[in-house]
Amino acid sequence: MAIFIPEEKISEIKNAADIVDIVSESVLLKKAGKNYIGLCPFHSEKTPSFTVSPDKQIFHCFGCGTGGNVFSFLMKQEGLSFPEAARHLAKRYGVDVPDRPLSPEQKKKISERESLLDINRRAGGFYHQALKNSTAGQKARSYLSKRGISQKIIDDFKLGYAQDGWDHLLRFFTENRISSGLLEKSGLIIARKNKSGHYDRFRNRVIFPIFDVNMQVIGFGGRVLDDALPKYLNSPETVLYNKSRSLYGIHRAKDRCRATGTVFIVEGYLDLLALHQHGIENSVATLGTALTADHVKLLTRYARRMILVYDSDEAGIRSAQRCIATFWKEHVDFRREDVFSEDKADTHILVLPAGHDPDSYIFEYGPESFLEAASGSPGIITFLIDCAVRQHGLTTEGKIRIMSELQQPLAAINDPIAQAIYIQQLAERIGIAESAVLERIRTVAARKPGAKTFAVQKDAPSGTLPKTGQAASVAGAKGSPEVNIAIRFERQIITMMLQFPDILPEINRLNVLKYFENDDLESIGNMILKFNPTTADQVSELISRIENEAQQILIASLAMEDESWNKKGCLRLLGKFVETRRKLRNNGLLEEQIKAAEKRNDHSLLLTLLNKKQKMAERSEKHKMAILSKK
Ligand SMILES: [Zn+2]
Repeated sequence: MAIFIPEEKISEIKNAADIVDIVSESVLLKKAGKNYIGLCPFHSEKTPSFTVSPDKQIFHCFGCGTGGNVFSFLMKQEGLSFPEAARHLAKRYGVDVPDRPLSPEQKKKISERESLLDINRRAGGFYHQALKNSTAGQKARSYLSKRGISQKIIDDFKLGYAQDGWDHLLRFFTENRISSGLLEKSGLIIARKNKSGHYDRFRNRVIFPIFDVNMQVIGFGGRVLDDALPKYLNSPETVLYNKSRSLYGIHRAKDRCRATGTVFIVEGYLDLLALHQHGIENSVATLGTALTADHVKLLTRYARRMILVYDSDEAGIRSAQRCIATFWKEHVDFRREDVFSEDKADTHILVLPAGHDPDSYIFEYGPESFLEAASGSPGIITFLIDCAVRQHGLTTEGKIRIMSELQQPLAAINDPIAQAIYIQQLAERIGIAESAVLERIRTVAARKPGAKTFAVQKDAPSGTLPKTGQAASVAGAKGSPEVNIAIRFERQIITMMLQFPDILPEINRLNVLKYFENDDLESIGNMILKFNPTTADQVSELISRIENEAQQILIASLAMEDESWNKKGCLRLLGKFVETRRKLRNNGLLEEQIKAAEKRNDHSLLLTLLNKKQKMAERSEKHKMAILSKK
């Protein structure tokens, strides 16, 4: 059953809960002025920069930049979903959460989701029964036993069998009066081309149901029993299933991941099952896609140390290159400065001896040997250095190739200390001067403006090295010299709106947000206007109304520092902002027209335009005076 909690209950829970109480359960807090401080649980530090404000009911870490309200804290710290965190708090503070009547639209959305979950659950049961009890299932049973899969694993992971034939599942559901339209949406059946009717997607395959963290079946994978193609077939993307967000085995791995702080990431169903069967339960598998930022985000809820397991150097290198981009993107999106640095976030690459995948390795050498190999696995950058040296050798030409292969990954490291260590490591390894390596890295960094802040466009596809751009980074980068001064202006205005709600009517009147360039800040500004708080201590409430995690973190960071505002100063700031932006926009337009007129040698138009330019300059001066004269 999907968990749904009515909005007014969320408010009630939020009002009952105390963030200092909740944080104190896992972080030792000391009083410091109005706030409490402690060592941040989300990055490693020696001096406390993790700050909790009891007045605003929010937390913010000045070290790693993360922040939010009591819900975000529980989600991050305990790896809970929002509804889970809300339930947890409701229970603790004795808030009764009944189901409430829903709008027809909500009902439809939720009921479709629920129906699809129900269909998946029943299909999973159908396949599982066929594997365990049917005569036809015999060949699947012997296939799995040949692969060494135990009965316990078959039951724990609810493995199944889809019989050979076009409509076994279809008939099962038709008998149970499930509409084919809904079934088609589940991806379990496919509409016939040019003909009416449907047929089963999975036929004569071992079935691996894919569960989410809440133990619900969101999709299926199917493997052939022989050499037929495709070897693996997965559910298509549905309302429930998205391969770039889902990880096979997460439902059975999460507790062990939390307990050990480590997660193994493999690439196949059978590899994953082999690890679990041998007691290495802190493992998950990607589903036919490279590790994405969403995967990393999901996994950081449970473990800091991630070990990616590959069957060859080549696969490892390809993935390591991609992962750097992924972790990098993750860093930019979530301001976790520690994600990249190896000793803190700890991303390792384990390449198994030639000819072995995790499945065959663990059956041949056992789990102890696997864990031992894992404990010696190099960090992601060390791995890349090792591979490059092995591949190109240490001739002069080899060294040049090594340098050109590694300059990008090294330039991508945003922690200067970590970067310095790797530069030193590489210089020593290939026997060239550290300053030469450093020079090379600097050239790469300099070629990309803004590369130092590791700006990345929000829509940069994972799998490519991030491009530079200011969109995502500027809103969060605090005090960095690269921060565009214009965005700093916008940040200041949002801070003002959060801490000094008296100014909101003026923001509205002057239409200030219309001039924003940063989308995150603009959207936060609009949320504040819509929410219309009357006092500054309603920040936590505001955070619960925002879904975008990066924006939540941004709000907490802007609201945390106390500045004293006065209306006159605020008006001056707003006036200056609007005036500058308006001028920029108008000038841009006018300049274009002037250029065009010059090009066409249209002297009379040119004269009119220049006149207009002059007048505009005068007007904006007047406008400025008008704003200043208001108090
Ligand atoms: Zn922190």
